[in-house]
Amino acid sequence: MSTPQPEKLHFQAEVKQLLQIVVHSLYSNEEIFLRELISNASDAADKMRFEALSNPALYESDGELKIHLSFDEKARTITISDNGIGMSREEVVENLGTIAKSGTRDFLARLTGDQKKDAHLIGQFGVGFYSSFIVADKVTVQTRRAGLPKEQGVAWESNGEGDYTITNIEKSTRGTDIILHIKEGKEEFLNDWRLRSTITKYSDHINLPILMHKMASTDEKEPASKEVEWEVVNRATALWVLPKNSISDEQYKEQYKHLAHTAEDPLIWAHNQVEGGNLDYISLLYIPSQAPFDLWQHQHQRGLKLYIQRVFIMDKVEQFMPSYLRFVRGVVDTTALPLNISREILQDNPVMTKLRSALVKRVLDMLDKLAKDEPEKYSTFWSQFGNALKEGPAEDYTNRLRIAKLLRFSSTKTDSPLQTVSFEEYIGRMKPEQKKIYYMTAETFNAAKASPHLEIFRKNNVEVLLLSDRIDEWLVSHLTEFEGKPLQSVAKGDINLDEISGEESAALKEEHKKQEEQFKEEFGTLIQRVKEILGEQVKEVRISHRLTTSPSCLVADDHDMGMQLQRLLKAAGQEVADIKPVFELNPEHPLVRFLRDEKDDQRFTEWTQILFDQALLAEGGQLKEPAAFVQRMNKLLMEKVC
Ligand code: ADP
Ligand code: MG
Repeated sequence: MSTPQPEKLHFQAEVKQLLQIVVHSLYSNEEIFLRELISNASDAADKMRFEALSNPALYESDGELKIHLSFDEKARTITISDNGIGMSREEVVENLGTIAKSGTRDFLARLTGDQKKDAHLIGQFGVGFYSSFIVADKVTVQTRRAGLPKEQGVAWESNGEGDYTITNIEKSTRGTDIILHIKEGKEEFLNDWRLRSTITKYSDHINLPILMHKMASTDEKEPASKEVEWEVVNRATALWVLPKNSISDEQYKEQYKHLAHTAEDPLIWAHNQVEGGNLDYISLLYIPSQAPFDLWQHQHQRGLKLYIQRVFIMDKVEQFMPSYLRFVRGVVDTTALPLNISREILQDNPVMTKLRSALVKRVLDMLDKLAKDEPEKYSTFWSQFGNALKEGPAEDYTNRLRIAKLLRFSSTKTDSPLQTVSFEEYIGRMKPEQKKIYYMTAETFNAAKASPHLEIFRKNNVEVLLLSDRIDEWLVSHLTEFEGKPLQSVAKGDINLDEISGEESAALKEEHKKQEEQFKEEFGTLIQRVKEILGEQVKEVRISHRLTTSPSCLVADDHDMGMQLQRLLKAAGQEVADIKPVFELNPEHPLVRFLRDEKDDQRFTEWTQILFDQALLAEGGQLKEPAAFVQRMNKLLMEKVC
């Protein structure tokens, strides 16, 4: 079975890498190691409280959860002891020898070696337990899981380099003791005042008493009693139950760091205490200032912490937040759910449904307010989480209008890749006769901005939203209107802006009509010939109303899937039926006029194919035979040269 000898094990490669960064002290404030260790002790107490709900015997004879913090100046140690859940041998190896977080490797690969940038990233990632090595050159952990016999205690020890040892020990009390052997030069932490003030700063509202030795009295008359006296040094109440006006911004921020396991400040928070009525709950919700590194990965774990009647029940409860709000962190504390609830029961509990919709509303309220009152902060939010929010209209039908109001886009008005234009702002600038909200989707902002589809809009000074995030196609396929104004792709259907230019006189309109007739007559044969040559490559060939400077372009038919969406789906490996584009020619372009008058069949064919391929390229598509295109092009150029 177990060997009393220490067993030597190697850290997982990722841990080694992380430790290196930690030891070379990326942290500008070293004292945060204490916050991390206390935070872990508090999590362990939460888990203990929860497991004991169904198995009170786990408490053994020690039902008062707390943390003891002490130090020994001579031995150069700091000890943090908790009587929380503790760890079994496997758990020690799993938790202190590896990093279970998804995407850790990707994360580490992103570190640049630039200390400042890396510190920022690491702050987001949270090094947790390993921050011990900021101040310690050796760390000893002694632990026993609640419920296991005292012989099954475990000692873990490491100097924070390549490996660690594990030894089976006897441990009479359950829970975990962390003993830090303080490094040369970090003696400042072997100091009562320093430790106390660090606790007050970071851990005042840990939901657990932290005890330290009572300060030695100055008069030495009485012989020191053998029994050490302990006193509670923090306030030990959960922050969210306190009256809002008694809580400082600093305290809210510290609470966030503990909840979200991060070293970064949150962007904003909302604290609501709803009592009476049919749904009693307290929520403290935060929006991070930075998207976590794994926000876009499937394994990203989202969700809030659930407390029932102040007792921690579970972490990462997904049901509270829809996926498009997966970046929200925080706690919900309610009396409306039974203490013995399980994850499975949560699934279809009617109270959960109510809580969820109340919480979603809280988040949307918070974002509304931010957008109105602090536009700069809102743009930070948008740059980090905008793409998640764009999933909203598809995922959350009930709130889609509220979400739509929060969306921001690039547009031909701002001509900047920064997404700042809201639908409301767009509508405020619409032409009096304009009925639709126009948008253009493309692979990149620059591609969207330069698209020939925009020519007629620019000429008529009609604003077009420029959408170039992958999610945008998904968004516009689910959000088809905003406050009664349909969303219209400028690359779809037959665009005619005549109705918009309201100032046009009847006479002018008449003239336009005439011109149209004339074009039809003049270019009828051309259209026919082009159609024959392109054959299966196109659905239709027609005279364009959207071009001013380009000779030709490709568009999708009104009810067909947009070309950009087709490409995205194909790239994602989906079967997409081949939808043929409509090929439009600009009757006022010299090349098109030239083509109209070309008699030589061979040359006509080549010109046509070139115009078609160009249109495909301009629109972001890929040529089936790029080499053939280049050859044709060169042939034409040579005619000029030779
Ligand atoms: P995190 O707290 O973000 O999970 P840490 O590095 O701080 O990451 O801790 C790693 C894991 O080690 C914890 O998730 C927990 O399972 C375990 N652990 C750390 N400290 C304790 C403790 N005092 N009691 C029980 N388990 C602990
Ligand atoms: Mg931790």
